[in-house]
Amino acid sequence: AKVSGRNRLEFFTPDLHQSLLHDRRLSVEIHEAIEDDQFVPFFQPQISAESGRLVGLEVLLRWRHPAKGLVTPEAFLQVAEQLRLVADIDRIMMEKSLEALGRWRKRGLEVPKISFNVSSGRMHDPGVVALATQMAASNTRVTFELLESILIEEENAAFRDHLAKIRAAGIDIEIDDFGSGHASIIGLMEIAPSALKIDKRIIFPVARDNRARNLVRAIVEIANTLGINTVAEGVETEEQAMVLREIGCNVLQGYLFSCPLSEEQFLSFALNLERN
Ligand code: C2E
Ligand code: CA
Ligand code: CA
Ligand code: CA
Repeated sequence: AKVSGRNRLEFFTPDLHQSLLHDRRLSVEIHEAIEDDQFVPFFQPQISAESGRLVGLEVLLRWRHPAKGLVTPEAFLQVAEQLRLVADIDRIMMEKSLEALGRWRKRGLEVPKISFNVSSGRMHDPGVVALATQMAASNTRVTFELLESILIEEENAAFRDHLAKIRAAGIDIEIDDFGSGHASIIGLMEIAPSALKIDKRIIFPVARDNRARNLVRAIVEIANTLGINTVAEGVETEEQAMVLREIGCNVLQGYLFSCPLSEEQFLSFALNLERN
């Protein structure tokens, strides 16, 4: 059936209008959320594949929305990006995480490593670097998870400069979502990350699909060649964990161990793990 131009107008314009309205409302709410302190860090444990002990955590942004409850980033990060507010939100995540580390320390929990999702365009933000430096001065190592696409941007001189500053501050780099983008081996050598974080879409089928398993094996081999670690995200089952341990993946993260937790929940989880 043919759709006439007129029908198309009637059919599609209200949708577009709806989505613009939605974005406009969302952008007002995001500004309010920053003002009213509604963005909070959640913390997902990272577990040593070998010992089962806590090796670190990933900070994941959550929005405590007054009406909608806890909202995950997919629903609003793109609009925040358009509003150029992600840098502010990332800074808030770091400030609050720094405070949480201090409170945990007082209650007997020393976290070995804390990882933040930082977009490569923001890692030179002076506020971000200052906060990270402050954190790196403690017993907790600080890691920035950068998307695989930086392996291409690496040719850019400004980017190298930012990378050098991050390094000088004692911050580690991990390549996030490894396997989902355009990996450049040269880029990997230049950036010298401390770990490759394998995308959960490769981890999900690893227990039942030989190709996925071989792919993980190949990534672990690349990491071994470079003398760096591998982290698996999205580990949901004992079968997946077994396969990953056997392959020699170093760090496991996923619902099998824990979903992202609030500050209080994370403290209980970590202290419990230490006790066992
Ligand atoms: P990501 O960095 O790839 O984070 C992993 C996502 O997988 C998180 O979703 C996490 O909650 C989820 N996840 C963890 N374990 C499992 C599992 O076993 N199974 C499944 N199905 N999912 C699991 P989340 O928290 O919704 O975050 C989505 C994305 O938003 C992140 O993807 C990251 O790119 C971005 N993001 C999160 N927090 C921040 C932040 O503070 N700043 C910035 N700039 N981006 C953030
Ligand atoms: Ca990440
Ligand atoms: Ca991912
Ligand atoms: Ca991601």
